[in-house]
Amino acid sequence: MQLKILNLKDDIIFEWINFNQFNNIEKINSNNENHLYSAIWLDGPLYWNNKYKEFLRNSNELVALKYLALKEFSIRKFSDKIKVYGISQDPNTKEYIIVIENKYYWTSGNEIIDNFIQNMQLKVDSSLHILFEWIPYNQFKDINQSNFIKTYSAIWNDGPLYYNLNDEMIDKEIKEMGELYVRDSYKKVALKYISNSQNISHDYLDKVLKDFSIKRLENNVLLYGLTQNPITKDYFMVLDGEYFVKYCVKCDKMYTNTYYEWCKPCQLNDLKKYFTNNGDERIDDLVQKMQLKINDPQDIIFEWIPYDQFNNIIEIRKGYLNTAIWKDGPLHYNKKRYIRESDKSVTLKYLNNSRNVSKKCLNKILKEYSIKRFNLNIYGISQNPITKDYIMVLNDKYFVKYCAICDKLYTNIIYKWCKPCHINCFKKNFISWTSGNEKIDYFIQEIQLKINNLFEWVPYSQFDYIEELGKYGSNKLYSAIWKNGPLYHNFKNQDFARNSNEKVALKYLGNSQNIIDNLNEILKEYSLKGLKLNIYGVSKNPITKDYIMILDKKYFEIYCIKCEKIYTDISYRWCRPCQIDYFKNNFINWTSGNEKVDNLIQEMQLKIHDPSDIIFEWIPFDQFNNIEKIGRGGFATVHSAIWKDGPLNYYKDKNEWIRDSNKKVALK
Ligand SMILES: [Zn+2]
Ligand SMILES: [Zn+2]
Ligand SMILES: [Zn+2]
Repeated sequence: MQLKILNLKDDIIFEWINFNQFNNIEKINSNNENHLYSAIWLDGPLYWNNKYKEFLRNSNELVALKYLALKEFSIRKFSDKIKVYGISQDPNTKEYIIVIENKYYWTSGNEIIDNFIQNMQLKVDSSLHILFEWIPYNQFKDINQSNFIKTYSAIWNDGPLYYNLNDEMIDKEIKEMGELYVRDSYKKVALKYISNSQNISHDYLDKVLKDFSIKRLENNVLLYGLTQNPITKDYFMVLDGEYFVKYCVKCDKMYTNTYYEWCKPCQLNDLKKYFTNNGDERIDDLVQKMQLKINDPQDIIFEWIPYDQFNNIIEIRKGYLNTAIWKDGPLHYNKKRYIRESDKSVTLKYLNNSRNVSKKCLNKILKEYSIKRFNLNIYGISQNPITKDYIMVLNDKYFVKYCAICDKLYTNIIYKWCKPCHINCFKKNFISWTSGNEKIDYFIQEIQLKINNLFEWVPYSQFDYIEELGKYGSNKLYSAIWKNGPLYHNFKNQDFARNSNEKVALKYLGNSQNIIDNLNEILKEYSLKGLKLNIYGVSKNPITKDYIMILDKKYFEIYCIKCEKIYTDISYRWCRPCQIDYFKNNFINWTSGNEKVDNLIQEMQLKIHDPSDIIFEWIPFDQFNNIEKIGRGGFATVHSAIWKDGPLNYYKDKNEWIRDSNKKVALK
């Protein structure tokens, strides 16, 4: 064993220890053949002192003497196994004894309790575990009766034994001694009465201790061990002082919400005083069911609110919606009790057919309305004493989030826009227009329901200042002013409005058998390109019988009106294919007189990719004025000159190429 030593500092010197070195030998337990004793080793174990460079002894070391095989122990100070110091022999029984470290207090003097403690210690399987132990009663001072029945608060001098997780906290000296288990001294604890019986059973102990934990970092209150008052003989469990803040004094259960010291069962019991009997069983039942939904101190206590509690009642929608001030106001949990938030402004919403309130309607309230404070929801129910109508009492900000028409969450809360209600509004309008063609009517309705509810049929007489722009392929393109203008959502008034005298693009689609296909194709082309180009609707020229798609004026910023393709460069409104076409058509208008030079220039022109590129061209020599020789470099002579017309530049606002005249150039 001594030859196993690897490191003087971290390993124990295993040795033969004379039995007369042991004092105060006391039996800890005896299960089967493995007797365990605690004892004081007078000289104590050897350790290497780095400072003096020699072996010294830790005298009067508390050790355990165990009759057992060696292999379960270790001589490494930092091993997880129990450390072993040496071997000895009982001179009376001649039995050999292994001397091991003793981390435990002395025995409880009760074999059942000792066994129980040993079993608890066997549960330790991680560094997060507390070492559950027997704690002598004289370890406790400042013992005081607490608010809890048969429970005392106390200070535990030595404090609980736990694995020191924070390496930096370990004093270097302590580390050399191998003390990775440290005690957290002067710990506030709770001594909670268990029993007075000496024949206390393991089952009973398991039962009373089951809610507590011997593992740190868990929600349960920590359980450190057991103790006994030597005078009264009462047994106590030793709990962390957290017990006093985490447990409800009334029912001795852990608080539902420990931060607010809020206990759901006890609060529900208290709430019974707010249960009402207003003569209608169904309403009483609803109030109780809603109250039982509370799970958190922040939840609203749903209640029956007498109608005379409301002041300043203002009608918002006749027979349906009022605002009011609730004098007493809702209950609010604050500093461990419920207080009322008085003069609360609320919204009063009348129930449908509320004189004969149906069970279905009440179940709907149960399901759909929330008592979560942050959901801007329901406070309770009331009744108008004159009309006998039942009224839901809602948060005043309820209609910030919920549609006042259908009572559903807005599709878009910021704009207070409710899609189903707008679709309904449009459905009502279907009867007021027709294109004269059933298929077209159906096509428009489909788009309104599925894609865009602002899409509509527009009579041709709505258009003014119609101007033909171009004809590319078979579809003519016009610009026009739409007198009434396109629809938009007026979110403020929950309504529609029109932008009158708006410029639009009219795209002619002919009047063939395939008109619906053509319309769909155009719709796809203009709506799927992510250009946010509005398509307002469909019209028909009464003379030519052509159907027309009505497009946003933005069309003219995005599409080249010559070829009706998207501009190559939208910000410059520049179309490369049309530019190339222009060059090609213009080749006949100029010549250098030399075919090879002409070809070179044409090639250079067709290379254009961007409106900021220079247009390379043939420049007649009579374009140059003020020609002056400025130098000679390499094989060429250099002259300066003024180019009368100057180079072409693209102007995006005018959408054309303009010459930058009298440009100073160099001729090489
Ligand atoms: Zn309670
Ligand atoms: Zn709605
Ligand atoms: Zn073009």
